Amino acid sequence: MKDYYETLGVGKSASADEIKRAFRNLARKHHPDVNREPGAAEHFKEINEAYQVLGDTQKRQQYDTFGSAAPGGFPGIDFGEGFSGFEGFGDIFDVFFGGATARRGRGGREEGSDLRYDLTITLEEAAEGLEKELEISHLIACQTCKGSGAKPGTTPSRCSTCGGTGQIRRAQRTILGSFTQVTTCPACHGSGESISHPCSACHGQGRIKGRHKVKIKIPAGIDSGYRLKVAQAGDAGLKGGAPGDLYVFIHVKPHALFERDGSNLYYKTLIDFISAALGAEIEVPVIDGSAALKIPAGTQPNSTFRLKGKGLPHLRGGGHGDQFVVVEIETPADLTDEQSELLRKFKKLRGE
Ligand code: ZN
Repeated sequence: MKDYYETLGVGKSASADEIKRAFRNLARKHHPDVNREPGAAEHFKEINEAYQVLGDTQKRQQYDTFGSAAPGGFPGIDFGEGFSGFEGFGDIFDVFFGGATARRGRGGREEGSDLRYDLTITLEEAAEGLEKELEISHLIACQTCKGSGAKPGTTPSRCSTCGGTGQIRRAQRTILGSFTQVTTCPACHGSGESISHPCSACHGQGRIKGRHKVKIKIPAGIDSGYRLKVAQAGDAGLKGGAPGDLYVFIHVKPHALFERDGSNLYYKTLIDFISAALGAEIEVPVIDGSAALKIPAGTQPNSTFRLKGKGLPHLRGGGHGDQFVVVEIETPADLTDEQSELLRKFKKLRGE
């Protein structure tokens, strides 16, 4: 879950003034007008979101109590295990919070859900990086009503039950005094609007089932366990609410020849005992072709040699990892009589 206190860099007991000050400082630093770095807008949005909650006494209290400022709570969407320890990577990668929230915006419009897409790629693709077009089946904004839910030519009118506030206030008088109970308007479910002529294409929901294509760029050097975030490519919101995000979870298929450890690759090869004794130059496969490897005379079983820079690109910081070649030595099991004779002579020569 998102920790708004962490976002603003303040403690749980921070005063309203401290929160305001922290927000102002961060906002000045990360405002997209000032900060041109990629991801600044996204970051600013998060800071803003945190302040919208912590800067409001009532919302903050609710957040402290329930861990959420959204009255809808958290639908149980499971994003799988093994991803929680992942560190964020600026704009393309996203730190994850273990669950999607059904966020409600102003006027009770509900934001669309975040979506998960599992994408399996080959080790070669991970080495090169690639662009991919994903076709996603999800809820998209209704074209007929442009997402509003109201029949074209009509506009939603103010809900007559709550007068457009989305809330019903009821004054209660008790022996302890009178207080006001506030509940969500049952007629408009908090939106404050009533659609008297619902769009017939989406039955007033503002969104329909559909497919759409998303192009994503997967950077070279990516590994299983990373996820890419495509902002606003999730489900469309309800009645014009903001769309959710799409998270693409990357899985790299195991390779037939190579074992991977970060940006290093391991390859096992077999050479004959004569090459091991005399030395040789052999050809070994690497991720983008093949490379020559010099085996020195007197190589022992399970020796490891390094092909510098023949591994995968580092995801951060440029450069490549290495490929390590583990050499196993094969003992011949099919000697001819003549070969056996020569080896016996050789053994005698060695005085063994
Ligand atoms: Zn519609």
